[in-house]
Amino acid sequence: MLIKANVRSSLELMPGTRLLWLDAPAIAAAAHPGQFLMIRCGEDHDPVLRRPLSIHRTNSSGGVALLFEVVGRGTRWLAERVPGDCVDVLGPLGNGFMVRDDARDVLLVAGGIGIAPLAFLAEKMTEEGKKRVILLHGARRGELLLPEGQLPGATTVVDLSEDGSRGRRCLATDVMDEYAGEADQVFACGPAAMYRAMAELECLKGKSVQVSLEERMACGLGACYVCTIRTTKGLKQVCRDGPVFELADILWER
Ligand SMILES: Cc1cc2nc3c(=O)[nH]c(=O)nc-3n(C[C@H](O)[C@H](O)[C@H](O)COP(=O)(O)OP(=O)(O)OC[C@H]3O[C@@H](n4cnc5c(N)ncnc54)[C@H](O)[C@@H]3O)c2cc1C
Repeated sequence: MLIKANVRSSLELMPGTRLLWLDAPAIAAAAHPGQFLMIRCGEDHDPVLRRPLSIHRTNSSGGVALLFEVVGRGTRWLAERVPGDCVDVLGPLGNGFMVRDDARDVLLVAGGIGIAPLAFLAEKMTEEGKKRVILLHGARRGELLLPEGQLPGATTVVDLSEDGSRGRRCLATDVMDEYAGEADQVFACGPAAMYRAMAELECLKGKSVQVSLEERMACGLGACYVCTIRTTKGLKQVCRDGPVFELADILWER
């Protein structure tokens, strides 16, 4: 759906990263973890292309949250929105994470801003209390991890930072074998380098590992083919067929 959503609140949650709540009841009701919105990041048609952002959270009062790094023109514009401003959003789009009913132990792996969709997934999975969820929550520096209290209490969070300033000093892939053993399903969002490393890990072999790809995309609807990737099942469009794919299906050499 295409809607004009009012900004409810906006704050810098971590350095260079903002949490923006929009008033969007229809999207909140339809959203599934791993889906994304295409945001018009300007007053008119400049910039022409909408920017894709994952749905970070929803709430029962019709709020939809985005968590985004300010990296360029579009996200800078979005960062300047204040409560009451209107934002043009299209979504929810794409196919999100597929959680099996019989999965009991679940491992989530977030690299940097990859925490955005995984926080929503953790929230949904712990809501019913039927799953044990462990989150490997990694970032370059401790200050770039979500602040305490922003993740559902029922999730076991393992903080990791490359500089060692919060949690263990390591990459998520360095400690994955300590946590993957019991996991019935693994869900990840992070940089492509993390996925390539995961694809080589013995401890993940034979497991269902779903990853969300942050490919550059233009339309978000499957019309322009900008985000096409190669998979074992043929060419796929990240916006329409993903952004979530089985890790083992992705062919990395383009
Ligand atoms: C399905 C999907 C979900 C996403 N969810 C989030 C999210 O929840 N939070 C978040 O912070 N970002 C997310 N991204 C990345 C986000 O879309 C880009 O950071 C954003 O479009 C940049 O727009 P800009 O105009 O500010 O920057 P631009 O001026 O367009 O680019 C600035 C810099 O950002 C890089 N960049 C642009 N697009 C991407 C991209 N798709 N992936 C990686 N780097 C990019 C460019 O290479 C350049 O270095 C997601 C991307 C996809 C495809």
